[in-house]
Amino acid sequence: MVLAFLVALFFGGRGCIGWGAEKAVDFVPVTADAKVGEVGAEQFRAQYAAAGEPTEAQKKRVERVFGELQQALTPEETAILGNPRVTVVVDDTPNAFALPGGEVFVLTGLLDRVGDDDDMLRGVLAHELGHAIKRHGMKGLARRAAFGVVITMLIGEVDELVVTLAAGATELDRLAHSRSMESEADAFGVDLLKRTGHDPEGLARFLESLGSQPVPELLSTHPEPVERAAAIRAGSS
Ligand SMILES: [Zn+2]
Repeated sequence: MVLAFLVALFFGGRGCIGWGAEKAVDFVPVTADAKVGEVGAEQFRAQYAAAGEPTEAQKKRVERVFGELQQALTPEETAILGNPRVTVVVDDTPNAFALPGGEVFVLTGLLDRVGDDDDMLRGVLAHELGHAIKRHGMKGLARRAAFGVVITMLIGEVDELVVTLAAGATELDRLAHSRSMESEADAFGVDLLKRTGHDPEGLARFLESLGSQPVPELLSTHPEPVERAAAIRAGSS
């Protein structure tokens, strides 16, 4: 019976299963997030290490800004992040991305892009923390592994589910978030920036600055940066 149901679901459309798999993340304990994130993190560290080490000044600056944001998180938000930390890696691509559990990777190309403007960097990091706290990476991986997630959920083993999701963890830097996820991460970022006493203007300005030079994670999907910047300004007033 169960098998017949699954086969019907499968042929009924992967889109439907993808939606179901994404919803299933709500039932996965948050302790799974850091475990899945760590699988991706190990891979990314190894991959970027070949390009060399960022400077101490780059690391210190990013850690300082990240630390300020981290201190403004509520206990509930902190509880979702099993492994909040920031890692700077050498790569010319202007990009940053968050792993489940709260590790954020910042590429030195992003630092080149923001120059000495800490508000822009702060805005990007706040946006990335939003993805981790709203568990967007977990949802994206669940959607990607669709059928496997549905089966694993039926078996009911969290450890199995971690293995299923972690299989895609090395693609977390290329995972395209949906339009609604980007908006949700922007809204979270605005709220967090306000809590630190900083103007969310930095995130809006950063999005506007992208123009014809998109940032892979931050512009992976439809919302127009100018539209998003306007929404950020509207939400911060
Ligand atoms: Zn994003």
